[in-house]
Amino acid sequence: MKALRKMRPARGANLESVPVPVPGPIEVLVRVRAASICGTDLHIYGWDRWSASRIKTPMTFGHEFCGYIEKVGSEVTSVKPGDFVSAEMHVNCGHCRPCRMGQPHVCQNVKIIGIDADGCFAEYVIIPIRNIWKIDPAIPERYAAILDPLGNAVHTVLAGEIAAQNVLVTGAGPIGLMAITIARACGAAMVFATEVNPHRRELAKQMGADVALDPAQSNVVEQLREATDGAGADVLLEMSGNPAAIHQGFQMLRQGGRASLLGIPSDPVTFDLVNDVIFKGATVQGIYGRKMFETWVQMTELLKHGRLNLDPLFKEHLPIEKFEQAFSLLESGQAGKILLYPNGVNA
Ligand code: NAD
Ligand code: ZN
Repeated sequence: MKALRKMRPARGANLESVPVPVPGPIEVLVRVRAASICGTDLHIYGWDRWSASRIKTPMTFGHEFCGYIEKVGSEVTSVKPGDFVSAEMHVNCGHCRPCRMGQPHVCQNVKIIGIDADGCFAEYVIIPIRNIWKIDPAIPERYAAILDPLGNAVHTVLAGEIAAQNVLVTGAGPIGLMAITIARACGAAMVFATEVNPHRRELAKQMGADVALDPAQSNVVEQLREATDGAGADVLLEMSGNPAAIHQGFQMLRQGGRASLLGIPSDPVTFDLVNDVIFKGATVQGIYGRKMFETWVQMTELLKHGRLNLDPLFKEHLPIEKFEQAFSLLESGQAGKILLYPNGVNA
């Protein structure tokens, strides 16, 4: 089969021919229909400090996908060949304390398919059966291919009260954009976004933001306060990982508000704990991955009843052979989600 692989610890990737893997007794083999490229894949492709510390080459990357069951292991009974599926790519151990206490999304021994094991930028991928998510037939293929990042956004938005709340999303990358439309669908009052990239500010409005602010303007904090009767946002959803955005986001958060942090800064961040958290009485939570499988149930409900329009996000549908074009488009900062088709776009 074709597989897009990191062959050596350096920038780039190679489309290789490798044997089709064989599923173990509690695994399935999935024929990949569409795979989406995530920011993490860009890091792996470009080979940054994080990739060098985490990724063992050679390996097949990619962790956002949908596909059809091709073959099931001898003990698998819950799916059959032909079923349309996606998967939770964080494989938890099941026996550490967080796993035992109902928090498998923060398993201390987590392995991520596409990072620690061969991923979905290939014609076929192996998935443990308990990580498979059967897709409701009402959900279109392109949406099914991005459930992983959509789940990040759903997890963040629904990590606290959202209805009738004034919500600020800092960073309108793909996940921030998804969060905007989810907050809308879940009954947020006003939705504000901050984003440095004007093209993405435009997308933020298309996705349902009432106001998309340029964080470089001198009076952004005042603008948001004025629009919220002087209070500030009830909820901060931090989706940039940028230290300046984090700082500004907390300045815009009201006394007693909720800050849910998903964005991943590349270095430690200096933080005004006294004014931004303690005196503010803020509730601050780290958000990692998707709740297993509460988030998957929630996003299925939102999608199957047509509550989320994600179409402005999709930019390109490319055969996997055009991976170089796909990665350079994403690196340009203009694209939303790009889907790669390992078995052909029209297969
Ligand atoms: P992305 O990098 O495409 O989006 C980040 C956006 O923030 C960009 O559009 C960027 O222009 C914007 N930005 C940068 N500086 C800003 C500033 N000062 N103010 C406002 N906006 C600013 O990333 P993404 O794929 O949308 O993911 C969002 C974040 O979530 C990333 O940091 C990613 O690493 C992280 N992430 C976390 C998890 C998790 O489980 N915690 C999972 C997936 C992704
Ligand atoms: Zn565990």
